[in-house]
Amino acid sequence: MKTQFLSVIKFPVFVSIALLIISALVFVLVYQAYGILGWSTWERVLYTGLIVIVAWLVGTWLLILASTTKRFKSKGFRLYLKWMLFHIYYRISRWMNSIFLQKTRDFRESFLNFNNEIILTNYSKIPSNRILLLLPHCLQNSKCKIRVTANIIYCEECGKCDVAALKQISLDNNVQAALASGGSMARKVIKDYKPDVVVAVACHRDLIEGVRDAWRLPVFALLNERPNGPCFETTVNLADVQFALNKFIQ
Ligand code: SF4
Repeated sequence: MKTQFLSVIKFPVFVSIALLIISALVFVLVYQAYGILGWSTWERVLYTGLIVIVAWLVGTWLLILASTTKRFKSKGFRLYLKWMLFHIYYRISRWMNSIFLQKTRDFRESFLNFNNEIILTNYSKIPSNRILLLLPHCLQNSKCKIRVTANIIYCEECGKCDVAALKQISLDNNVQAALASGGSMARKVIKDYKPDVVVAVACHRDLIEGVRDAWRLPVFALLNERPNGPCFETTVNLADVQFALNKFIQ
């Protein structure tokens, strides 16, 4: 329970703490400097610039927090918030995670959960055929000879792995589905299908790389389970997959 709680709040808490520290440092610096008479022009520019940067970082972060529950109408503004989330706040939080010697895995999970919240708030009523269910190749039973990476429809549904159930889910919901054997193939699949929303299943590392790589696209991340170790006959919680599809389709 505690781990689950941390996996949700770690990312936003780290960003908030970092911004509080930065704001306090700038406040002390400017307050001390203000006591010294005779600022030169460049000092005025420097301190004003610092205040503007801090206010911009804090303001944008508050808007990103708001975007987990509120949908902003402007597409360009939403893209700006996403750019800041992936390029600035993700890095700030990662530094904090390293400074506090925390597990990278928990940090990644927290970031993915936070991003999922934003995507769920901002995307709904998507035509089902515009949703792509992107799955990792390691879900397939290792002894299966069928090339399901070519097309999941080729799965003969023997039931020895989750691919059978996922094929059925994709057919029942009329969503596109594809298995990718790596990052390059995932990129190609996204390029070919051109979806409005991606529901991606993978491990922590691949999901983080994937959502950061395709940051412009709404990628809802679902972690796979690894009962046999990494990258080998993995599984996924099918109820979570159905939950995500329902949220986007309704
Ligand atoms: S369910 Fe499909 S992919 Fe999995 S082992 Fe059977 S035929 Fe192969």
